[in-house]
Amino acid sequence: MSEVAGPGHSPARVLLIEQDPRTAMLIGEMLRAGWTQSLIISHASRVTEASQELRDHGATCVLLDISDDADSLNALEHLAAANPSVPIIVLSSRAGEEFGLTAVKAGAQDFLRTAELNPGALARSISYALERKRSEVELAHQALHDPLTELPNRALFSDRLSVALDRARRTGAPVAVLFLDVDSFKYINDSHGHQAGDQLLTVLAERFREMLRPMDTVARFGGDEFTFLFEELESEREAILIADRISQSARQPVILGSDEGETTVQVSIGISIVTDPSVTPDSVIRDADVAMYRAKELGGDRFELYDETARVRASRRLDLENALRRAVDHSELRVHYQPRVSLSGETGLIGFEALVRWEHPDRGLIPAEEFVELAEDTGLIVPIGEWVLEQALGHIARWRQSRPGVTISVNLSARQLESPGLAAHLDAAVRAIGADPGVLCLEVTEDAVEHNPELAFRTLTALRAIGVKLALDDFGIGHSSIAGLRDLPLDSVNIDRSFVSTLGSDPEGAAVVGALVELGHALGLSVVAEGVETDEQLARVRDLGCDGAQGYLFSRPLPVDGVHALLGPT
Ligand code: C2E
Ligand code: MG
Ligand code: MG
Repeated sequence: MSEVAGPGHSPARVLLIEQDPRTAMLIGEMLRAGWTQSLIISHASRVTEASQELRDHGATCVLLDISDDADSLNALEHLAAANPSVPIIVLSSRAGEEFGLTAVKAGAQDFLRTAELNPGALARSISYALERKRSEVELAHQALHDPLTELPNRALFSDRLSVALDRARRTGAPVAVLFLDVDSFKYINDSHGHQAGDQLLTVLAERFREMLRPMDTVARFGGDEFTFLFEELESEREAILIADRISQSARQPVILGSDEGETTVQVSIGISIVTDPSVTPDSVIRDADVAMYRAKELGGDRFELYDETARVRASRRLDLENALRRAVDHSELRVHYQPRVSLSGETGLIGFEALVRWEHPDRGLIPAEEFVELAEDTGLIVPIGEWVLEQALGHIARWRQSRPGVTISVNLSARQLESPGLAAHLDAAVRAIGADPGVLCLEVTEDAVEHNPELAFRTLTALRAIGVKLALDDFGIGHSSIAGLRDLPLDSVNIDRSFVSTLGSDPEGAAVVGALVELGHALGLSVVAEGVETDEQLARVRDLGCDGAQGYLFSRPLPVDGVHALLGPT
């Protein structure tokens, strides 16, 4: 490679690719004759050599002679890839506008026939190619950048992320994407005007750009959303530290408009750390977006990591929800009945508690504990609860023929408690089985009451008015005040299993259960101990004054057949 420098400062650097040394010399002469400013000409005889030169040192312009090799149009591609901002002029001995057009389509900025070369034509062509390249680069820049902040736009961000993921697949180095959204941006726009909003975005963009390493990317994703791409992070912790620095820098005061004084903004950031680089760029961005939403939900001005386990949990829950809907339609639900015994006087059966079960085709019998909350959240508890009530009333009507005194307890959800027609509906249902409403005891938890205390209070009062008995379930673990309890129209309380289970092992346990019994009695209520599993627990709850008990010691919840076996022939 030979180099000849002309006089003057920041000379134009022309890279000539020409196999024939004599032609190269000739063209060099013409260049120096035609180009009036200072000039450096480098000469390469092969494309590979020239590509390296372009990569290492760049050039003002490339002159590529492809006269000798008709296939060498793909040389253009190599050169363009080596340095996309350098214009290329193709020289060829082949005649025809058509070939020239092909060359331009393949990436050249101009085309000259070797036979027509002269100093003036060469100089003109270089000026033309420079201008053309400049506007091409400008257009490409516009297509990939946000005009307001000059940051890369969404398209460029996705592209860089996709390249980063490719790299991560090869090197295993982790990639992190941060998704940032300005809190209350709409407020800024509404109160200070759109110009102030734009100004804020520009200031933020500038701050973000300044704090990043050259290899990192910050993009304006849209509106008040910015995305960040980090490669080769040391650890998850590093991503968190960066997120923290970013939100701190966003929090620095800004002056918007001319005389409005300082404003501060806060941002919410979602972080997605890619552990599996085979994912798509879109899914990484979506995960970070989801995490950002979570940060917003939690009140904003914070960052959240995208949590894969949370996603898995959510999707399992969705599966379960769909399965539960099917269960309702396909009659996979059952009601089991747990006997309840009296402790005052002679120990004997006084009733049953109806407990819903799900007979899952694959998983077997699922206890209420594992799906009632989901049913509650999805509203499925309403049809389920109605069905359980209907079943329970049907069964108790039958059982009372052999055991006239037994009652049935049914659990009521918060949603049912808030449905206005419940009392009237139950009144009709109890009458339909020809029973006294007092055979039915409805159990509500403190939580269900607390959900909407006024509405609950009204429903409970209406239920009481028709003669249905009412029990407070999970007594002791809720947050009701004693005054609140006193106001509720109740007949009994069920001391929660968690207190009963401490009897025998924990000396304070007896004191707590004793206090709960006393409180219940002081409120004029009868007290049932739940979850009695041992003889010792039974002895204690009896000594402490409980009126009734329920638990595995007496019986597990039984299917209908089991109850029939227990009751004997009817
Ligand atoms: P709960 O009303 O307090 O019911 C007692 C729970 O304790 C039942 O669990 C029962 O199987 C269990 N259990 C009873 N004795 C013992 C014992 O000695 N040891 C132990 N370890 N556990 C015992 P289950 O059936 O899983 O029900 C859980 C909760 O789900 C119930 O608590 C109730 O709040 C709710 N639930 C059950 N069926 C229904 C229903 O039909 N509708 C509504 N809304 N909620 C229901
Ligand atoms: Mg209960
Ligand atoms: Mg209970």
